[in-house]
Amino acid sequence: MLEVKDLKAAYGQHPALTGVSLRVDPGEIVVILGANGAGKSTLLKAVSGICEGKVEGTVRLAGTDLLGMPPNRIVEEGLALVPEGRGVFPDLTVAENLSLGAYTPRAREEEAGSLDRVLRLFPKLGERRGQVVRTMSGGEQQMVAIGRAMMSNPVYLTLDEPSLGLSPLLCKELFQSLVTVKDAGIGVLLVEQNARQSLAIADRAYLLENGQIVHEGKAAELRNDPAVQAAYLGGA
Ligand code: ATP
Repeated sequence: MLEVKDLKAAYGQHPALTGVSLRVDPGEIVVILGANGAGKSTLLKAVSGICEGKVEGTVRLAGTDLLGMPPNRIVEEGLALVPEGRGVFPDLTVAENLSLGAYTPRAREEEAGSLDRVLRLFPKLGERRGQVVRTMSGGEQQMVAIGRAMMSNPVYLTLDEPSLGLSPLLCKELFQSLVTVKDAGIGVLLVEQNARQSLAIADRAYLLENGQIVHEGKAAELRNDPAVQAAYLGGA
């Protein structure tokens, strides 16, 4: 289980997270919904060991405390991040991007097996192996980013607004690919502003406002909650 307890983060005097607690079970999709500036990116960065601010609290993965570990150790422990803006290398091919995802010693040893698994999850990436990533569509690039993170053989995959800038159809494909990841037994933690489509695939959700969790519940319940509909689903 991935467990976050009383996580606080501040940039100088500015608090961005003021005591966030949440959990993600293995093979579960959990979405954090929040408006611009709510602290979504800070939360994922703090969990992944790359927050520029001061971080306090507990982040535990299968009982191991991750807080204070360097980011590569956190990946080695089994937590991979798909950062906002994807974090792919646009001038390299799909195959090169995937190979770069297997950069920790454990992942390097298991690279061939991981590549097989990633190409089984995303057959499209196999067909496009030699394509330079810059020439791919936004949705395809997002798939490369997810495939690259999966090459570290994660137990948990975290994603920062993966649907940003994608057309509704590509969003649908993207979220469907996260279901594929979940079905492979990997826990998924994503932060999103796209409430409608992310709640449709999530098991549970948390609402983040001003650095605090203000509500949590089953995704299906939140989808039907009038307050959530008004704030996140455009009143639909
Ligand atoms: P968005 O959806 O716009 O990316 P977010 O929910 O991801 O927003 P964060 O990026 O985590 O929010 O930002 C939370 C708060 O922390 C904001 O007030 C932001 O201005 C501030 N902040 C984020 N990064 C830094 C930084 N490196 N230095 C100073 N303040 C920061």
